[in-house]
Amino acid sequence: MMASNTAVKTNTAITVAYGDGIGPEIMSAVIHILKEAGARLDIEEIEIGEKIYNKGISAGIEPAAWESLRRTKVFLKAPITTPQGGGFKSLNVTTRATLGLYANVRPCVSYYPYIKTKHPVMDVVIVRENEEDLYCGIEYRQTEQVTQALKLITRPGSEKIVRYAFEYARKNNRKKVTCFMKDNILKETDGLFHKIFDEIAKDYPDITNEHWIVDIGAAKLADTPENFDVIVMPNLYGDILSDVSAQIAGSVGLAGSANIGDKCAMFEAIHGSAPRRAGQNLANPSGLLLGAIMMLVHINQPDVAEQVHNAWLKTIEDGIHTYDIYQDGISTEKVGTKEFSNAVVARLGQKPQKLKPVSYQSAPEGFSESKLSVQPRSQKALVGVDVYVDYPDILPQELGSKLEQLNGDGLKLTMISNRGTKVWPHSFPETFCTDHWRCRFMSTEGGSVTHHQVVSLLQRFEQAKLDFIKTEHLCTFDGQKGYSLSQGE
Ligand code: NAD
Repeated sequence: MMASNTAVKTNTAITVAYGDGIGPEIMSAVIHILKEAGARLDIEEIEIGEKIYNKGISAGIEPAAWESLRRTKVFLKAPITTPQGGGFKSLNVTTRATLGLYANVRPCVSYYPYIKTKHPVMDVVIVRENEEDLYCGIEYRQTEQVTQALKLITRPGSEKIVRYAFEYARKNNRKKVTCFMKDNILKETDGLFHKIFDEIAKDYPDITNEHWIVDIGAAKLADTPENFDVIVMPNLYGDILSDVSAQIAGSVGLAGSANIGDKCAMFEAIHGSAPRRAGQNLANPSGLLLGAIMMLVHINQPDVAEQVHNAWLKTIEDGIHTYDIYQDGISTEKVGTKEFSNAVVARLGQKPQKLKPVSYQSAPEGFSESKLSVQPRSQKALVGVDVYVDYPDILPQELGSKLEQLNGDGLKLTMISNRGTKVWPHSFPETFCTDHWRCRFMSTEGGSVTHHQVVSLLQRFEQAKLDFIKTEHLCTFDGQKGYSLSQGE
């Protein structure tokens, strides 16, 4: 990653994919603008998407293309069409995970009055964690009735994204970083994200910090986005709310996005390949262009980024609009993709008069090596085990009686829950139960237990012909519980 304050004057190698649907048209328009603006680029083209999927390559990208990406470390990507049906992997998810692109950055800006929006004053940057949470995609069907997905939130993953958000705020002269999470319910996972946010915020006393539970935070964001600046969040909330933010700013078709890692980065529009609009010179290249501008800043060509961005703002302000943002009375000319790019080229060197011009004099926004904290290892103790059982058509009391017979060897049944709600030793007849039971065994002495005790408990399950489907070990870390209690426990 670049680190100097002076713009790079030599060419930078980048990898470009023209994608599917409207992809080739909008990428040609963007490359045309970048070249005319004097961007110092050596372009390596790769093929991704439909054609590659159709060759039977389930990842949608060929090995030679990975070599280019690993060599240039900078990827400008047009949208692709993801084939319907099973067997195909999402190229975006694969690229993010393979290249370690942990931060997804989406600026959502309104351009009132030139682009219709309910929020004339909006300039929000969503910083979304990109590698973990439910997007690890670890899912199981465990019983006839019950499926499960694992939500993984890690200390290093959370530290990287939260620190990135504060560094981004500082480098871009932003004043506030807000954290969205749901730790009133998810005390371990989102609780960790929140804790790390509070820890890291202390290193940035110059930047205001605040946090909201994601439900009310999302409502406030949709209602009064002008009160937000940079917002950092775990993957799923970020995925949903960055689309909401882009849409309420004016249009998802206008937003660009950067996927940043310590070694590589990928830049794109947030919209898809819009196949119905393909090949008609209709599509708006603005989302991809704004992604490409983030790329120019990243590869330390802020001079070109600024010129292109201001020319684009002037084009929007002059009312030269593609069909998707055209409005009678405000727009002056309805243009196609090519004509739009020519209009931007014609305005290179100009600044907008009404919209706020941008300035990119500072160092690139790329984040240098992640500074992960060094945590002393906690004292970990195994204190019990949750054994999950598949048992259809049984009442909690009956199951409790069966399982109490397995007590012994220093372990005893303390609780059974169904979908997180305690149903044994006491239950309400109103509580709906599925065939998926969590059966908690703790040390009879109240102290730690051994793996041997857990294995012998499972042997007793097997002898009793009970269908155990998984176990979760209950540990404490420096005496603090590392597991949730059930509702009502
Ligand atoms: P989409 O974003 O492609 O299009 C939705 C609608 O938005 C289009 O019908 C069009 O009216 C409009 N639109 C989108 N971009 C536009 C532009 N630049 N200019 C003008 N109008 C535009 O979403 P979709 O139809 O749900 O998905 C189409 C395909 O794109 C699917 O195969 C999907 O999997 C894929 N997709 C790819 C990416 C990516 O590569 N990053 C992202 C999202 C969807």
